[in-house]
Amino acid sequence: MTPDLWLDAHSYLRPVADLSVQVDRAAAGIEVLDACIPSWENYHADFLAGVPLLPSTSAAVDLEPGGRMAGALLERLASETSSGSLAAETRALDTELRREPEVARRIADFLLGDETLRPSFRGLLRYLGWTATARFLRPVVNAFDSWRDEEQWLRCYCPTCGSPPSMAQLVGNDPGRLRLLSCGCCNTRWRYRRIGCPFCEGADDHRLSALAIEGEKYLRIDYCQFCRAYLKTYDGEGNETFFLADWTSLHLDVIARDRGLKRLASSLYEL
Ligand SMILES: [Zn+2]
Ligand SMILES: [Zn+2]
Repeated sequence: MTPDLWLDAHSYLRPVADLSVQVDRAAAGIEVLDACIPSWENYHADFLAGVPLLPSTSAAVDLEPGGRMAGALLERLASETSSGSLAAETRALDTELRREPEVARRIADFLLGDETLRPSFRGLLRYLGWTATARFLRPVVNAFDSWRDEEQWLRCYCPTCGSPPSMAQLVGNDPGRLRLLSCGCCNTRWRYRRIGCPFCEGADDHRLSALAIEGEKYLRIDYCQFCRAYLKTYDGEGNETFFLADWTSLHLDVIARDRGLKRLASSLYEL
């Protein structure tokens, strides 16, 4: 699937596609700072106890360079000559954050849920911050993927950053089909139980209901009869980067909302 073909068939996604292209292009132009791979031995006990990697004091991953990359991305977008609301908002945010002492550290803490930083464009900072930080974290996420015993996690939140999933993916063929959950923030994918709702887990091991979307071969909505939460699911392999990007299926969020379902999945597109 190429973005052009997708956008021909889903022209209403064009504005968010343009935004995503503009931000990714700017992000590709900033220097990727080195991330240290943590000691897995030090982190192991926290992992077994369900503590995600980034908040773990035993793993001690320093996210400050990711915050610096986020600052650089913001500065780059703010200095571009384009007009429109993205340019205006990034400029305002850039000016505002320049007044903060230790801003890179503050942005990194903000991304992990610290609420003492109260930027005027919160959603935008989360989106740009995670876009830059995911690039910084890529080697750590890859090393963590290789080290992690998926059977020992199977939790409803991201093993790297602790966020709720943004989407799900089904891989393989029955009877060995697996469900992966995907983090829209740090881009980790992790294994979860094949049945059951990740938003009200513990209730029952009930099956989610699947809602097929007319004309969509690869995407469907799985929803929970109990808590009415839904999870957009990519039922395919090979186009993860595209289909798990969340923005490519924002029309499914509209369909789900029209049916009275709740989005409890995290999203960086609530700008
Ligand atoms: Zn994550
Ligand atoms: Zn549920």
